[in-house]
Parts: sequence; structure tokens; C-alpha cells
Amino acid sequence: METAETILSVAGLSKTYAAGKTALRDVSLEIKRGEILALLGPNGAGKTTLISVICGLVSPTAGTITVDGHDIVDDYRAARRLIGLVPQEIVLQPFDTVIETLRFSRGLFGLPPNEAYLDELLDMLTLSDKKTGITKVLSGGMKRRCLIAKALAHEPRVLFLDEPSAGVDVDLRKDMWAIVEGLKAHGVTIILTTHYIEEAEAIADRVGIISKGEILLVEEKDKLMERLGRRQLRLYLETPLNAVPDSLAAYNLELGEGGALIYTYHDGADGEHVGALMADLTKAGLTLCDLETTQRSLEAIFVELVNDGDIAR
Ligand code: ATP
Repeated sequence: METAETILSVAGLSKTYAAGKTALRDVSLEIKRGEILALLGPNGAGKTTLISVICGLVSPTAGTITVDGHDIVDDYRAARRLIGLVPQEIVLQPFDTVIETLRFSRGLFGLPPNEAYLDELLDMLTLSDKKTGITKVLSGGMKRRCLIAKALAHEPRVLFLDEPSAGVDVDLRKDMWAIVEGLKAHGVTIILTTHYIEEAEAIADRVGIISKGEILLVEEKDKLMERLGRRQLRLYLETPLNAVPDSLAAYNLELGEGGALIYTYHDGADGEHVGALMADLTKAGLTLCDLETTQRSLEAIFVELVNDGDIAR
């Protein structure tokens, strides 16, 4: 349900392309003001279609979308004015200068010139020294930053970034993350699509997982990791075991390679039992020589969800 906290609301959205391909099935999503939401999904999941429908580039088959209360069909201009889109492909006029690109985009939305604002944007995106240069000679990373500046030229409140770091090297990806965080600090709500799990892990406040046109889950990133984040403790013993001792049967233990004991637990309540397990280990006459803990990453959670469509632990 839409609340004052919500800036964008998607309800019951479906899209079937003319060729008969259903790219979105009954998608509902609420975007909160000022958040960074990462939409994570494999190729063909429907991420670009979802963004394209919200931005008015593709018409929905069913469902409604409002941006700050403006319906994207009935109140198209007002809704569109509040949205900026950074597309996946680099689309810039090669012989336009950077500043012309921004002025033109702002003009398309019918806004009066505001050089001070555009200068501020260029500064934020470290493009000030390229202001009067043509876009053709910009490096790949600069072109992407120029696309972001262009998408922000009409002062939108919500920015969509479709695969912002596809084909970008690690350094540029980190630059991109810093830019996204800077935009959030300026009050811009950001929705980005990605298939890089580490990108979602690094910058998102919430993560939405989309697969085969359906949203499988949308949740605070930290809560998601906590809820589904299984931990494992490997206990290496001085004398390797052949079986889990009966006195330790109350714990979720398995025998690992080389006779090590593996204790699987979940963050939170189960973690409290680690101390008791250690004490019971000593009582059982077992001497520890090493231990190791591992945590299930967002990647493992994602793979399980997309493969099984099941979020059971
Ligand atoms: P990627 O990460 O590869 O960009 P995506 O999650 O953005 O994938 P979409 O591009 O939205 O996925 O595609 C979803 C499905 O809809 C795919 O099966 C795709 O082939 C199909 N599709 C996309 N655009 C069209 C179109 N114009 N006509 C017909 N089918 C389309």
C-alpha cells in the first residue's frame, strides 16, 4: 500500500510482448523515498522491461504505476518529469559537447535553463573539465558519468540505473558505487538493476530478487543476510573423529572431511549455543586444534532462490 514514505508504487504489473513472451507477471513493488534498491536477477528476468514500463518506454499489459501520486498513463508528463533513466547502452550524440547534452535534455522536459545546477551536476560527477568537450572523445567511464548527468539534468527525484557497471572494470565499478552513494546523499531515490551480487551487497539498502518475470522477494539487505545467512563453524580436532559423539547429539553437527566436526547454525539465537558446544566438546574429552567459520553470502542466497524459488532455510 502506498504511504507518504513511498515515492513509487507498482501494483499488479504484467507485460506480455506482442510476440507472446510474458516478461513480467503480476509485479508489485513499493519504492521508499531516498533509498537505494537493487533489483537483482539473471539475464532475461525482466529487469529492463520493468524499468522500461515505469519510464513509459514500454506499455504495460496490466497494472498501475504511480510516481509521487502521479499515474504514469493518465498523468504521464508529471510522472515522467520525476524520473531519470540511465540506460544500459551508451546513447550520446558524438559531436555534442557535454554541457549541450545536459542543456538539451533539460529543455526536453520543458524546464527553464539553470546553468548553476548543471555546473553542480558536472562537479558532482567530476566532469567539470570536460564541460565544453565533445562526448565522442570521453573515456568509457566518463561517458557513463555523462549519461548520469544527462539523466539528472531535469532534476528528477527517482533515478533508474540499468546495469550501471555492465562491462566496466573493477575500479570504475567502485567509482560508480561512490557516485550512487553521493546521489543518495543528495536525496535522490535510486533503483538499479544488476546481475553483480557484490554490487547489491555493496550499496543497496534493499534488494529485490526477480526471476522469470516475478519478484521473488524484496527485503532490507541486512535483514535478508541475517535471516538467510547461515553460518558454519568447522572444528578441527587433535584426534579426528569417525562419528559424531552421542553426547553432542543435541547439536546440529556433521562429520566433515578429515574427521572435523561441522556445526551449522543461523545468526541470532542459534549463535548463543556456540559457547555451550565448546564446553560440551571439552567435557567429551575432545581437544580442539583449529577452527574456521564461514557465512553464506548473498550470492548463495540468490542462487538458491532463483533455482528453487524457495526461501526456506
Ligand atoms: P538482461 O539482464 O539480459 O538485460 P533483463 O532481466 O533486463 O535481462 P528483459 O530485457 O526485461 O530482461 O527481458 C525479459 C524477457 O522479455 C526476455 O525473455 C526477453 O527476451 C523478452 N523481451 C524483452 N524485450 C522484448 C521485446 N521488445 N519483444 C519481445 N520480447 C522481449
